[in-house]
Amino acid sequence: MELTISPRDHGNLEDYDRTYSEFNWSSVEREFDWSNGGAYNVAAEAIDRHARNWRRNKIALYAVQARGEVRKFTFGDIAEMSSRFASGLERLGAVRGDRIFVFLDRTAELYISVLGITKMGGIAGPLFSALGPDAVKDRALDCGARFIVTSPYLYKRLEPIMDDLVDVERFIIVGGNDGLGENTISIEELMDSGNPNYQAVSMEPTDPYIIHYTSGSTGKPKGVLLGHKAMIQQLITCRYVVDLMEEDTYWCTADPGWVTGTSVGIFGPWFLGTTIVSYEGRFDARAWYSLIERFKVSVWFTAPTALRMLMRAGDEVVKGYDLSALRHICSAGEPLNPEVIRWGLDVLGRRIHDNWWQTETGAPCISNYRSMTIKPGSMGKPIPGMVAAVVDENGTELPPRQEGFLALRPGWPAMMVGIWRNTPKFKEYFEIPGWYISGDQAYKDEEGYIWFLGRVDDVIKTSGERLGPFEVESALIEHPAVAESGVIGKPDQLRGEIVKAFIILRPGFTPSERLKEEITVFVKTRLAYYAYPREIEFVDSLPKTRSGKIMRRVLKARELGQSPGDLTMLDE
Ligand code: ATP
Ligand code: MG
Repeated sequence: MELTISPRDHGNLEDYDRTYSEFNWSSVEREFDWSNGGAYNVAAEAIDRHARNWRRNKIALYAVQARGEVRKFTFGDIAEMSSRFASGLERLGAVRGDRIFVFLDRTAELYISVLGITKMGGIAGPLFSALGPDAVKDRALDCGARFIVTSPYLYKRLEPIMDDLVDVERFIIVGGNDGLGENTISIEELMDSGNPNYQAVSMEPTDPYIIHYTSGSTGKPKGVLLGHKAMIQQLITCRYVVDLMEEDTYWCTADPGWVTGTSVGIFGPWFLGTTIVSYEGRFDARAWYSLIERFKVSVWFTAPTALRMLMRAGDEVVKGYDLSALRHICSAGEPLNPEVIRWGLDVLGRRIHDNWWQTETGAPCISNYRSMTIKPGSMGKPIPGMVAAVVDENGTELPPRQEGFLALRPGWPAMMVGIWRNTPKFKEYFEIPGWYISGDQAYKDEEGYIWFLGRVDDVIKTSGERLGPFEVESALIEHPAVAESGVIGKPDQLRGEIVKAFIILRPGFTPSERLKEEITVFVKTRLAYYAYPREIEFVDSLPKTRSGKIMRRVLKARELGQSPGDLTMLDE
């Protein structure tokens, strides 16, 4: 497997340059039913449209339960069940614009309720089921959630904070509400009262259908609102970035509590009528490979953390599984280390397509496409229809290889329509006229490929140079002893900051001064003279968000003995 793919195997985006120069969004808009008088609603386009054509009996969802049992749902099934759910919600008193949380494990009911909520014009708030009671409370109070769909064990988790959830009127319980409080109703009862032929409500393009809280890597999570018009970009990125085709079976490992889990995990693939697999269980290398084998997964979307964990599990494990159906892998959410791409080619025999986006962008923005030569370490090029640039503080575009702020030309379809009750925060993104400023640092090369350096807050200033932690972390994991690492700048009298690396070793290696020395020398030969870690600390784990991202601000605060700020998203 190579970094360049033969033209006959280019997939949906045959010729990037041509499509980029000819592209216009209205051609995508014409694909939706609403352009022919149908309801303007993400649920109508993701589900109901297919239930009216030959896809009615096509599998929409294989919901794999934690122990491996499978529940199958056709597009017709999901259409009917989400209609029942939507109309049951209305009977309960829900109205357009209500915030309704879905706090569930990755079961079929999660998908059905998110679709049902959007169908009746509600704003779905999917919450990762690993969240603790305080994290749920913060979010419920922030946006005034009126209803929460949950399960008995998660309801019990919320009991200690129940009195604080002042806006929540009812809990809709999946799995029976016997013995639970009077503020509950079972999902069966709700759906039995609902109309299976309920029609999706037509919304305005900028009406929000979902509220996603960001990962909390840099501070307190923000409640990002995405509008129904995001569908336009979600459809096209699932076609061009994820490269989905009619016959694909697709698995996105991201939990629907995060934007990846809904934009390219539910809605995007369903706009295209693709069959998706969901898995309730947690990460486990064997379970994951066997899922790909069993469902003949042909496109797989995951994240760098998961790929690094698979690498750590060893190259022998994968040999026991037949992954021959798999065409390629996509990765987003964190920088993808070149070493991981090489491992993908060598051990999995597959290309990994890195793509960059944020909760706020609603869909992928910069990507490596199937037809494009991959440059390991680069996030790729902007999607057709979008302009991405590297600018200085005045908004002036910088020449190739000069580092600056990664910026986007505002107005792409999936751009957030607001941050819940926080207009000042929303406005901050647009402070440099003409641009949306992402908060990440990057540079472009001569061919227009974009390279990620780090978050603006994480950039290290050492010996008068600016350095992104990603570069150092990527060099470190090339060393055979290093499984994972987190790098920060530590204040230093002489150099401003020095590079400090926290390292998790691979199984079979033990910490020692000699190993530190060896790793230091290894990095020195690969990076600029100032970029090697002057301090190394071996650790058993790294602080990560619940969505799996390294929290460098926590490493730094601990190192400096300072307060780490909001920790509700720290995965312990
Ligand atoms: P918060 O905004 O709450 O601090 P967060 O930024 O991690 O958390 P998300 O919206 O989930 O929340 O993540 C977006 C960020 O993730 C991007 O700004 C970027 O820093 C990082 N990211 C996403 N995809 C990539 C990628 N392909 N390469 C490098 N970084 C990425
Ligand atoms: Mg962010």
